[in-house]
Amino acid sequence: MALIDVQVPDIGDFDEVSVIELLVNVGDTVAVDQSLITVESDKASMEIPSSHAGVVKALNVKLGDKVSKGVVIMQVEGAQVEAPAAVTAPAAATAPSAPSASPATPQAARAAPAVAVNAPSDTDCDVLVLGGGPGGYSAAFRAADLGLKVILVERYATIGGVCLNVGCIPSKALLHVASVMDEVKHFADLGVTFAAPKVDINKLRTHKESVIGKLTGGLAAMAKMRKVDILRGFGQFTGPHEIEVAATSGTGQALTGEKRRITFKRAIIAAGSQAVHLPFMPNDERVVDSTGALALKSVPKRMLILGGGIIGLEMGTVYSTLGARLDVVEMMDGLMQGADRDLVKIWQKMNAPRFDNIMLKTKTVGAKATAKGIEVSFEGEGAPAPQTYDLVLQAVGRSPNGKKIGADAAGVAVTERGFIDVDIQMRTNVGHIFAIGDIVGQPMLAHKAVHEAHVAAEVIAGELQGNADLAAAAFNARVIPSVEPPSPIQEQGIDAVAVAMTSVDLLPLPSFVNGALLFKVISHRLSRRNMMITYPMILH
Ligand SMILES: Cc1cc2nc3c(=O)[nH]c(=O)nc-3n(C[C@H](O)[C@H](O)[C@H](O)COP(=O)(O)OP(=O)(O)OC[C@H]3O[C@@H](n4cnc5c(N)ncnc54)[C@H](O)[C@@H]3O)c2cc1C
Repeated sequence: MALIDVQVPDIGDFDEVSVIELLVNVGDTVAVDQSLITVESDKASMEIPSSHAGVVKALNVKLGDKVSKGVVIMQVEGAQVEAPAAVTAPAAATAPSAPSASPATPQAARAAPAVAVNAPSDTDCDVLVLGGGPGGYSAAFRAADLGLKVILVERYATIGGVCLNVGCIPSKALLHVASVMDEVKHFADLGVTFAAPKVDINKLRTHKESVIGKLTGGLAAMAKMRKVDILRGFGQFTGPHEIEVAATSGTGQALTGEKRRITFKRAIIAAGSQAVHLPFMPNDERVVDSTGALALKSVPKRMLILGGGIIGLEMGTVYSTLGARLDVVEMMDGLMQGADRDLVKIWQKMNAPRFDNIMLKTKTVGAKATAKGIEVSFEGEGAPAPQTYDLVLQAVGRSPNGKKIGADAAGVAVTERGFIDVDIQMRTNVGHIFAIGDIVGQPMLAHKAVHEAHVAAEVIAGELQGNADLAAAAFNARVIPSVEPPSPIQEQGIDAVAVAMTSVDLLPLPSFVNGALLFKVISHRLSRRNMMITYPMILH
């Protein structure tokens, strides 16, 4: 095996930078693009990636050393590599404050796929996006708009992911209908009375599906316009620069038996999350998760919402307006944990009539299917005797899909719970592979996935095209307003808090998004700014 020198690449305008962190040791196995050391100038810090794969035999730098372009950082034992011309070095890739240096000069060896990991010298695409949800399609579109060749792999027939197909969009379409029905009822207090509504559940389901169809159809057209290739199938990494896609067909994930290998320069993992199922719940059509609840097969008389979070309560709101009586069971001491307590209080007061029993600090410990319904047992403060329900909605959280994508083969580290850790530029521990959306952690929200997608796509385009400004893109999830309460640090300097409700009909939103919007305004003394926190629960 050859001993290869790994050198400091072109680092833009900086002549000399200090080594502030050693990220590998002698004896470690490193992949191409894996970060080796962190260096710092007076303006920015950046990680230096490995140009070769192999085992580290010697470390030639130590903390505090000054290094410049061409200095040998370490020697690795591995195979020699071929040098693709298109890939350039990142200019201050992890340094949002880096000056916009002239484009970095091509570092032929840097991202060269090493023979040792069986990577091709000529890839099928610049960027492979795994997963077609809000994160995946946004990343694919942004990368294509920036001139990159993109392949998007999605196992289902339509792109749009959880949000468009079985999440935000169908739930809001149904909440809108429920909201209008509720509003009409309140008109009796104003002297205007309507007859009780007659609900045609089949027509309502068709309405929901047509809203989904319009949006997912629009996405497919947008992908085509941008020449993003959508490859239908189940993708699993088989190496740091390649993925195997097992073709799927039909409305689900049925495998056709065909397989295709795709090679890429960079990848963005956007494989999302799925509903958590409790192990003791019976396999019965009267036990559903949010996807099953959105299928809207029938309206139960008595429904249990297992888990007092936003997703469960949204679905409960729809079913209760359609005629179901609700119970909710929550292990913690309040509904919608993590949400702003002022807003939760108002929501709970307004929605109290929907519930027969709100069981807090109560655990669900068993369930069995009987002829009469699903009999559920509880434990905890004020837990009732076992209760029988026509429908049980499991809404106890979502788990990331990190363990189902062959991440090991690409060297991408996945946590015990299935999340993928990323830095502020959405880069995983493998320098040329990024991850975004639900799979990188909370908050699991579509708009967070979209912003992360844009950052990853911009960093990649910046690196591949030698554009330092783009390569320095970064994202901070904490700047997104949400219903979470301010942290103690943010609370310092808060002058006033006001909670109010308004109509959002006048906002430029799609037609199925209207109704009432609850919002909270926080007046911040230090920044002299008012911050508005909206409450999506009743944004129908
Ligand atoms: C009922 C419900 C209501 C919600 N309401 C809201 C809301 O009002 N507002 C909001 O912001 N968020 C809401 N969310 C959350 C939102 O849907 C998610 O945060 C968002 O969809 C995450 O986007 P993503 O791209 O990370 O992942 P996903 O949307 O989960 O997309 C991942 C995609 O990857 C595909 N995939 C996974 N593995 C593979 C593989 N190996 N090969 C090929 N394809 C693969 C999946 O099929 C999927 O299409 C809601 C969620 C639910 C369940």
